[in-house]
Amino acid sequence: AKGQGRNNYQCFTSSMNQKVSERLLLESALRDALKREEFELYYQPQYDFSRNRLCGCEALIRWNGPDGLVMPDRFIPLAEETGLIIPIGAWVLEEACRQGEIWNRATVEPISVAVNVSAVQFRPELVVEVRNALDVTGFDPRQLVLEVTESVLMSDVDGSVRLLQQLRELGIRIALDDFGTGYASLAYLKRFVLDKLKIDRTFIMGIPEDKDDVAITSSIIDIARHLNIMTVAEGVETEAHCEFLRAAGCNLAQGYYFDKPLPADEFSNRLQ
Ligand code: C2E
Ligand code: CA
Ligand code: CA
Ligand code: CA
Repeated sequence: AKGQGRNNYQCFTSSMNQKVSERLLLESALRDALKREEFELYYQPQYDFSRNRLCGCEALIRWNGPDGLVMPDRFIPLAEETGLIIPIGAWVLEEACRQGEIWNRATVEPISVAVNVSAVQFRPELVVEVRNALDVTGFDPRQLVLEVTESVLMSDVDGSVRLLQQLRELGIRIALDDFGTGYASLAYLKRFVLDKLKIDRTFIMGIPEDKDDVAITSSIIDIARHLNIMTVAEGVETEAHCEFLRAAGCNLAQGYYFDKPLPADEFSNRLQ
């Protein structure tokens, strides 16, 4: 039995060592990826129900790694743990603004660009990073949206209120991402000054069959309307989703029903 235990232990440590070295490999690969400019932003169109037109997009990061395209769920968590999300996030902000400025020079109706901000980035220095991205690109701050989640704001409520205030003083807008899945109570909709609520995909998925999802989604839309906050439905995949959301008074929609996230040049084609 002793021998067995020892084997198990060796087994355990070697698989642990393997995990550790995989992480180290991924970490150094991520470092190199920044230097080699292997990150790329895809842009998912957002549609305005009332005007029936494309009005903006969400920038979503991809990594063109040595073995192909890597999705953010595979590397953002490690980037957050290692702090690499700081330089990566600064790159995302500047790249999204640079691209947005190119589009808005060419279009009559300006489009907005939304950028995801992780908890690690959400600190006072973010104001400097955003201002810098706006300054070097010339992008109109009114067209930049930062997407933050409830958990990001809730870890330090007073600090978040102050930081959101400073960010909004730059003229940019704030969206609360994945709304309804976190711990924020409705009272915080009053304390955090927000421009948009993104209704989480998990609620949209059940529409129209699931009565609870229908009730939750309509209620979020109604509350937001009364608070003068725009609603964005994410994960809109079917005609039925679309019809329901339009009738319920949702402002904007984003999802596979319209478009997947697209490389910049394909998004450009959508603007014409
Ligand atoms: P998210 O912010 O909730 O982004 C929406 C995700 O839903 C995206 O996944 C998008 O491709 C996907 N999606 C869009 N429409 C549909 C649909 O109709 N059906 C379904 N099933 N999915 C849809 P993606 O691009 O893999 O991004 C995953 C997450 O990674 C994002 O979730 C966000 O939290 C994070 N992320 C992406 N880009 C960045 C970034 O630049 N910085 C940071 N910090 N996080 C990012
Ligand atoms: Ca988002
Ligand atoms: Ca989301
Ligand atoms: Ca999400």
